[in-house]
Amino acid sequence: MLDFINTNDTELKEYNSKTRNAMQEMKAFCDSDDFIIDCRKKAHLKVNRAIVNGKIHWNRLPKLINSNTKMKKDIDGIDLEIFGLSLAPHFISGFNTCNGLSLGCAKSCLMFTGHGSKFMVDCNGDHNVAIARIIRTILWFNHRQEFKTRLLHELKLKYNNLKSKGIQLAFRPNVFSEVKFEVHFPELFHFCKDNDIPIYDYVKDIKRIVNNPFKDFYSMTFSLSENNALFIPTALKHNCNIAIVLDIPLTKKKDNRKKYLVDVPKDFTINNIKLKTIDGDINDARFFDSKNKFVVLRGKGNEIKKDTTSFMIRN
Ligand code: SF4
Repeated sequence: MLDFINTNDTELKEYNSKTRNAMQEMKAFCDSDDFIIDCRKKAHLKVNRAIVNGKIHWNRLPKLINSNTKMKKDIDGIDLEIFGLSLAPHFISGFNTCNGLSLGCAKSCLMFTGHGSKFMVDCNGDHNVAIARIIRTILWFNHRQEFKTRLLHELKLKYNNLKSKGIQLAFRPNVFSEVKFEVHFPELFHFCKDNDIPIYDYVKDIKRIVNNPFKDFYSMTFSLSENNALFIPTALKHNCNIAIVLDIPLTKKKDNRKKYLVDVPKDFTINNIKLKTIDGDINDARFFDSKNKFVVLRGKGNEIKKDTTSFMIRN
């Protein structure tokens, strides 16, 4: 029996039922959406073409690790680069990668922002970013051992390359997913620990925080949705900050395009729990954050503007 602070059976049952319903709704949506079906078909085709006589030709497939605009943001005074694994979230690939999802987070998932925006198709109508994320997910589920070997290989190359330039590497395994790598891929964590590579994730499934087998170096930030605030005390007890999405404009200062025009509030209260805040958009290096804080993220992407679930907190 897991130890959740200040929760009762009725709240837990309600949470479980809402999560189950959200999963069913997102699965049904993904299995019938033309854009997603098209991307899945193309991804499977590319995977099949890359396997010859049972051997995966990795040069025919997208790299497993990469970076993105948020992870590339500078961290003052530190030579550090963040890389991550971008799988496809929830049921987009046909496999489920998000057990802690809510309807609000799944519908507004950052998978479809920036380079993942649905209009970013090439001249053949292929959405290469979405297809690449689906390919990685297929490989994780259908070719597990080869996937692990390849990911560690890519990570080692990146680590050696950055080390030769005096730059520290950090790694985020779940950029758009919530796979329990700490259970299914412990070799990854041992590699990171042995090489002093900070490893971190935003986590919605509170059970992963309670059961984290690598608490001393796998940094988890509890990620708030419209349905999981009941677990805030448990996350705090396990030394995790709480990431929240607020409706704050993304406008940058005209004279300094790196700075936001509107600051995040200095403190915030949810369910009578008042904490100081950290601006989570300044960089993605959550493993450096001081503890007992709300990590405030500004709502991003077009989908979140339509959110009616209160996933994004509006004043
Ligand atoms: S926000 Fe996180 S949990 Fe929700 S769908 Fe996206 S990756 Fe999955």
